[in-house]
Amino acid sequence: LTAHTSYGYIFNRDVSSQAEVEADFDALLAVDEVEEFEQRAVISFPNFVHRQIYDGAVARIGNAAGFFEPLEATAIVIAQLQVGMVLQMRLNRPVEHRERDAPMVNRYLINYMLCSGLFVGWHYCCGSRYDSEFWRYARDHAWPKYRAAADPEAVDCDALRKFDEMVGLINRRVIDKEDWMRKCAVFPLSSYAQIAQGLGCYPGMTNGH
Ligand SMILES: Cc1cc2nc3c(=O)[nH]c(=O)nc-3n(C[C@H](O)[C@H](O)[C@H](O)COP(=O)(O)OP(=O)(O)OC[C@H]3O[C@@H](n4cnc5c(N)ncnc54)[C@H](O)[C@@H]3O)c2cc1C
Repeated sequence: LTAHTSYGYIFNRDVSSQAEVEADFDALLAVDEVEEFEQRAVISFPNFVHRQIYDGAVARIGNAAGFFEPLEATAIVIAQLQVGMVLQMRLNRPVEHRERDAPMVNRYLINYMLCSGLFVGWHYCCGSRYDSEFWRYARDHAWPKYRAAADPEAVDCDALRKFDEMVGLINRRVIDKEDWMRKCAVFPLSSYAQIAQGLGCYPGMTNGH
């Protein structure tokens, strides 16, 4: 990475054709005076969190456990947490606790990913000042599904409640001092406050709907 630069172009196939994307991407590379490149690929990716990240014997780490954002800026810290929790359990907990511990570790890791994913979804779907078809689709069609997607009964954890609490906090007129350092998975309250007030064009964004 010290000698290379990666360029990416996130697009929605239902909104832009590949030819349009390639032309726009070429224009971007021309502005940056990029004449040579090693590889060019179109990669489709699903957004998901695996229901069984850890079953007591097998651990899914990194992209095998979940994937929820095109830029993946939170991927490594989440992979470190997955490795850390599984090693902690295997090295420090007596083996007789495994059957009870494994579902708890699994639920914690799923919860952590969903909490992070809700924030990232909120950020992408409500947080753009660009009024393009891509962003309108994200805001009007993709994001409104978040409550059903994170329904506690469907996902067997309370990530949605934690996310709602963070959005509730930033909507308060005064935030109590003991809440200033609150985090929801990767993201502290200050990140919620920044996203809610900084980027957006969407007036309803601070109420999370
Ligand atoms: C350009 C770029 C920048 C990024 N920046 C960040 C960042 O700033 N912060 C962040 O948190 N994340 C970042 N990410 C994301 C992060 O790097 C990935 O999410 C993370 O590396 C995924 O880890 P992984 O172990 O799941 O997969 P990988 O790191 O892809 O590891 C999979 C390994 O499996 C090997 N493999 C594949 N198929 C086979 C096979 N059939 N047999 C044997 N081996 C195989 C591959 O060669 C590879 O070594 C970035 C990703 C990219 C591409």
